[in-house]
Amino acid sequence: MDPTTCYITILEANREYDYGRAREYALILKAWLESGGFYPKGFEVNAILDTLGRILRPACRPAALRFPFVNIQCFHCDAGKDIESLEQAIDEGWIKIDPETELPNFSHIGLCPECRRREDEDHN
Ligand SMILES: [Zn+2]
Repeated sequence: MDPTTCYITILEANREYDYGRAREYALILKAWLESGGFYPKGFEVNAILDTLGRILRPACRPAALRFPFVNIQCFHCDAGKDIESLEQAIDEGWIKIDPETELPNFSHIGLCPECRRREDEDHN
């Protein structure tokens, strides 16, 4: 495990809006740091913790976890048909996940990785 390489991978994935990959590597680096591993070299500790915090912030509200998952629909598009669990949605970069109580055919709604990327690009 080379935390510096891992961190650079996280930054690259983040820059490319590859949320699933950024999250995967952020979890690896977090586990490494928590087990007493040294920090990536050449970066400020605060910047590293900040980046990890942003990537790993909760993707869904607590209420979404209590609701049995059937399927999910994006706020903005028809993405979500291939998602089979909340874990999969989170791993693939879905955020703002909520239980859906008004649409009869869906148990959850959220923002899919594609629409999230579009929002991020608009803000840059
Ligand atoms: Zn979408």
